[in-house]
Amino acid sequence: MSILSEIQTLHATLPEGVTLVAVSKFHPIEALREAYEAGQRIFGESRPQEMCAKQPLMPADVEWHMIGHLQTNKVKYIAPFVALIHSVDSARLVAEINRQAERCGRVIDVLFEVHLAEDESKSGWDEGELREFIASGALADYHNIRVRGLMTIGTLTDDIELNKSEFRALRALFEELRGEFGEGFDTVSMGMTSDYREAIECGSTMVRIGSKIFGERSY
Ligand SMILES: *Cc1c(COP(=O)(O)O)cnc(C)c1O
Repeated sequence: MSILSEIQTLHATLPEGVTLVAVSKFHPIEALREAYEAGQRIFGESRPQEMCAKQPLMPADVEWHMIGHLQTNKVKYIAPFVALIHSVDSARLVAEINRQAERCGRVIDVLFEVHLAEDESKSGWDEGELREFIASGALADYHNIRVRGLMTIGTLTDDIELNKSEFRALRALFEELRGEFGEGFDTVSMGMTSDYREAIECGSTMVRIGSKIFGERSY
């Protein structure tokens, strides 16, 4: 299927309350334009440099989401325009996003990336670490970030039941933390091409879909 028909199909079939992030990393600007023509406005990129290169080439009503691991020294490049950072995985990064947002006179929306997989290789907070960080009250000092919810990347596996247990765990943590943050805490970012249907069953409100829309990436 073409990019156009993939986007149209997703827009027609995703349940109400589930937002589509079109993950356009490693794809050329023409591919993003085709998705835009089909009505897509939210694009996800994993590298600050690539996002900064594409941003001026797309219409101003595009919302840019950072979904990949973000180094603190790169925050300044995306701070002027990024709409949502999904991959906030450390206290240092929280502080730096707040600092750069303040410099730009903005409030930047963020998600905490939670690490639920067994493997140790991935980034993200352990559940316990995140609870401690929130309980520490550190966030009270940051007036230029708004915590909108949680994000996770499912384990890369054929075992879909394992992914579902991770997704249920993220949704449960989201419910638990919602009391602390209130109404604006409304986003559960989980599910990619291989597992977005299951993620939605388990309470996802935002899916990040790349290869299904744009085809294979050439690195
Ligand atoms: C690349 C990427 C995706 C999209 O993956 P697909 O399998 O191509 O849908 C989603 N989330 C994150 C964090 C990614 O890095």
